[in-house]
Amino acid sequence: MSVFKGRGIVLKAYDQGESDKRLALFLKERGKIYVTARGARKPKSKYMAGAQIFTYSDFVFFEKGQMLSVTQVDLIESFYPLRMDLDRFGAACCMVELCDKVIMESVGADEVLHLLLLSLMQLCKGKNPAIIQRAFEFKFYQLSGIEPAVFNCPKCGKTLESEAVFGHEGALCKNCRAGGQVPLTPSALKALQQIIELPTQHIFSFEIDPLSLEQLEAASMLFMRRNFEVTLKSMDSLK
Ligand SMILES: [Zn+2]
Repeated sequence: MSVFKGRGIVLKAYDQGESDKRLALFLKERGKIYVTARGARKPKSKYMAGAQIFTYSDFVFFEKGQMLSVTQVDLIESFYPLRMDLDRFGAACCMVELCDKVIMESVGADEVLHLLLLSLMQLCKGKNPAIIQRAFEFKFYQLSGIEPAVFNCPKCGKTLESEAVFGHEGALCKNCRAGGQVPLTPSALKALQQIIELPTQHIFSFEIDPLSLEQLEAASMLFMRRNFEVTLKSMDSLK
C-alpha cells in the first residue's frame, strides 16, 4: 500500500459500476495513468468537479496492488469555457484524444503536458479553434520525437521555399513530390515553420487564410496517421 501525489489533466472519464468513475489522467510526473474515483457519480461527491474531462487538478492517490484510487482532488483549472462552445469543445476533445492514444503509461511527458495546458487556455480565450488545434498537433509531433521536416526537403535537402507539398516525412520541394501529398501554400509552410521553430508559448499567434488552414488540417491528419497510427474519432464531431 502506498500514497502518492500528482498534478495533471483528465483525458477521459467514464462510468464504472454503480457510482464510480474510471479516469485516464495525464500526470506531469508519470505520463498516463488509469485510476478509479470511488463514488464520483454520487450527488455531492467530493470528486465531482475534478473527475470531468479537461479538468486540471492536484490529486492524491492510494495504491494497493494493481488498484489505484483517487483519495483527494484539488481543482486548479476547470477550463469551463470549453463546455460552452461546440467548436472549442471539439478541438479540445481532439487534443486530449491524441494525448490519450499516444502518451505512454508511466512515462513522464512534462513538455507535452505544458503544451496541452497552454493550448486549452488559448482555446478558452476564443481564438480560432482550428488554428490552436493545428499548432498543438505539430508541436506535439515534435515533442513526441517525430519532428516533421519543414525547413529542408527530406529527399534532396534543398531549402524549402514556396510550392512545397506535405507527405509523411513533412514538407517536400516541388521536384521531389510524388502522389498522395497535400499541397501547401506559402502561408501554410510559413505557419508550419513557426510552429516547429518557436517555443511552445509563442506558437499560437499566427494568422492564416482558410485555404491554408485546411491544408494544415489535411497535412496534420496524414502525418498523424502515418507516423503515430492514430485517427481521431473526435474529428468527426467537428465536420
Ligand atoms: Zn526535394
